[in-house]
Amino acid sequence: MTNPYLPHLAKIIRIIPQMNDVRLFQIRLEDEGMRNNFNHRPGQFVMISVLGTGEAPISISSSPTRPWIIELCIRKAGKVTDALFRLKENAVIGLRGPYGNGYFIEKIKGNNLLIIAGGIGMAPLRSLLWYSLDNRDDFKDIILMYGTKTPDEMLFKDELFSLLDREDIKCLLTVDKGTDTWKANIGFVPKLFDSVNLSPATTYAAICGPPIMYQFVLQKLIECGFSKDRIMMSLERRMQCGIGKCLHCSVGHKYTCTDGPIFTYWDVMNMQEVV
Ligand SMILES: Cc1cc2nc3c(=O)[nH]c(=O)nc-3n(C[C@H](O)[C@H](O)[C@H](O)COP(=O)(O)OP(=O)(O)OC[C@H]3O[C@@H](n4cnc5c(N)ncnc54)[C@H](O)[C@@H]3O)c2cc1C
Repeated sequence: MTNPYLPHLAKIIRIIPQMNDVRLFQIRLEDEGMRNNFNHRPGQFVMISVLGTGEAPISISSSPTRPWIIELCIRKAGKVTDALFRLKENAVIGLRGPYGNGYFIEKIKGNNLLIIAGGIGMAPLRSLLWYSLDNRDDFKDIILMYGTKTPDEMLFKDELFSLLDREDIKCLLTVDKGTDTWKANIGFVPKLFDSVNLSPATTYAAICGPPIMYQFVLQKLIECGFSKDRIMMSLERRMQCGIGKCLHCSVGHKYTCTDGPIFTYWDVMNMQEVV
């Protein structure tokens, strides 16, 4: 039997700086067989390791519609990510997964999709964004709302700006504080709701961002008439095994790693430790 904790070797192909403490790591599994069999769903995560430092759960930022290269958008936060930021291109790291449930793609299909991201919350949602655009006929209207404090903090800026010209997605970008060169919206994410006509009964919303954004965005969605089981949000809990064995990430009677990290608002509001 194979050891589920055994990481696979993966090479860092390219490191693309996003802002001061956030980088996009393009990674390729060394083993060709593993590479061919690596199938993930948007919203799933991997456990990454740098030799001698331990492991950290990181969402997959790339879409399964663009296989071969796995993209991870990582903020330098502590032990493992510090060590990762010291590595250069061509270095080899450990990776196991994909783990977790991912966004409820089969349910969303045939509906409108509203993606709402704040700050580094764009990392897991980028996978869902490109998955839905690459399978455009499976979805009705697609709306992206993304906000950061300043233009410099906006992740994937070039690719998101390229969406502004597309007719098959409404892309609304905003910053709390603009600059002379900033041409999109200024204000907090909930203000973007004024620019759209939503149909809550036929829309699924996927949110990821800082706690303060959740608070106001959830309020807006409920005011608009969204039912709580049409709102998907990701929970971040400290994890060790990633496979439902160690109990570190349990919330109520659920494990964030295997039952999540994507939960509906309905699930989350009924979890004792979260509310
Ligand atoms: C499902 C999932 C997906 C994620 N996706 C991403 C992603 O795409 N990109 C990304 O950048 N991050 C992501 N994270 C967050 C990332 O896993 C954490 O930031 C992780 O802790 C980084 O590991 P580290 O060893 O570098 O930092 P750590 O050394 O773990 O430190 C991180 C922070 O936690 C604090 N800390 C350390 N130990 C404890 C403890 N026992 N209790 C409480 N706080 C402690 C530290 O002081 C520090 O502020 C994700 C987390 C989850 C659960």
